[in-house]
Amino acid sequence: MFTLETAATAAYVVAALLFILALAGLSKHETSRAGNTFGITGMAVALVATIALAINHQIEPLGLALLIGAMAVGAAIGLWRAKVVEMTGMPELIALLHSFVGLAAVLVGWNGYLHVEGDAGGAEAALLSEQGMLGIHSAEVVIGVFIGAVTFTGSIVANLKLSARIKSAPMMLPGKNILNVGALVAFLALTVWFVIDPSLWLLVAVTVLALLLGWHLVASIGGGDMPVVVSMLNSYSGWAAAASGFLLGNDLLIITGALVGSSGAYLSYIMCKAMNRSFISVIAGGFGIEAGPSEDKDYGEHREINAEAAADMLTSASSVIITPGYGMAVAQAQYGVADLTRKLRDRGIDVRFGIHPVAGRLPGHMNVLLAEAKVPYDIVLEMDEINDDFDGTSVVLVIGANDTVNPAASEDPSSPIAGMPVLTVWDADNVIVFKRSMASGYAGVQNPLFFRDNTQMLFGDAKDRVDAILAAL
Ligand code: NDP
Repeated sequence: MFTLETAATAAYVVAALLFILALAGLSKHETSRAGNTFGITGMAVALVATIALAINHQIEPLGLALLIGAMAVGAAIGLWRAKVVEMTGMPELIALLHSFVGLAAVLVGWNGYLHVEGDAGGAEAALLSEQGMLGIHSAEVVIGVFIGAVTFTGSIVANLKLSARIKSAPMMLPGKNILNVGALVAFLALTVWFVIDPSLWLLVAVTVLALLLGWHLVASIGGGDMPVVVSMLNSYSGWAAAASGFLLGNDLLIITGALVGSSGAYLSYIMCKAMNRSFISVIAGGFGIEAGPSEDKDYGEHREINAEAAADMLTSASSVIITPGYGMAVAQAQYGVADLTRKLRDRGIDVRFGIHPVAGRLPGHMNVLLAEAKVPYDIVLEMDEINDDFDGTSVVLVIGANDTVNPAASEDPSSPIAGMPVLTVWDADNVIVFKRSMASGYAGVQNPLFFRDNTQMLFGDAKDRVDAILAAL
């Protein structure tokens, strides 16, 4: 028989399919807009179905008012933040949003406890114990609270690090690996205990333990590994949502959580491979990474160039490679860079872009900026496609990039970014580095590239300097 329940179940299946289509669409430039539209539509369908179900279950008027009020406030804040956020502030906003998912999972878990285990004489507890499901419910509570709390504090630390409100360098507590492993073992023991005897203090202990573990895991991961941390927290937030789905008996939440959890885990894995990092080491809070010696090296003198001389060098070049980084995003220099590319190509100079997998502050950051400025896709190459071509290139323009072009990654085993593959720009005949000072990049390490014989520094805001070169051309 057709009921509102069956209609809602059908709507959930449609929403789940739309979420899968969204993920498929987001995997390519050309289909990413369609992917977003699928995602938005799926979420709208899910929301309408959930509210209809709530009304059907004769939710009290106060509950309905709270539900609609919370959605209106949430939607207003979400729309406002999405409107004002700078592209460079995206990763920290995403990290903050992950923390909300974590917090929601903790609240759902606690709510589950208060309704069932905490109300032992109540109807729900009686029903579950009659079905022999009470132990499973307790396990769902404790696991949901644990994953949620780890995600909550971990995401807050990631937000603080990405917004530079705390230092991005890894926190190195003595015996940090033992602390992490110890916390996991304690969690397992507490879970078994809670399933046998679901008392309040055990749930409090698991919550506090998970909050501390989340904080410590992310605080222990530093600099160059932060991109992986963001996608890993994305994955955790998915598992936290799936855990809430089990507790609430909501299939769509389980499916959506699993989609987010597994795609986030896969993205973290791909990024670890691209960065030559051990996946296990990163998810285990920097397991096996020890603090390197502090920097106190004398790199010698650097040379400077001005915009006119840079323009001269470019006009006499036969090939140019541009390697953009976070500074191009900060300066919003992509439009000038696109203009410069057009002008040089019009003069018959071969211009291409080399994109490092973690350039900027979110995966694909540079690709998005260059696409926005209408740079043709076919001259925008990935690091692996272009790294062999620097040798023999006349000029490389490093525009606001730093860690991603640091030779120390391949030459200095004691460097905190040792082993990370980088763009080998120094193999070119000439390198011009656009930045405002000699300051270090995100990972906080000095860059010996700036002191090489074939490197010249073009100081100033990247947009201003690109405009000055355009004027000189
Ligand atoms: P970096 O962060 O290493 O360096 C950016 C450089 O841009 C700085 O040295 C800065 O120097 C310069 N800069 C800043 N503002 C301007 C401006 N207005 N004009 C000109 N220059 C400017 O950037 P990369 O892209 O090379 O590397 C990305 C780093 O971020 C990596 O360490 C990566 O691991 C990390 N990261 C990446 C994420 C991702 O998903 N892509 C996520 C989180 C972290 P100065 O101040 O002197 O101008």
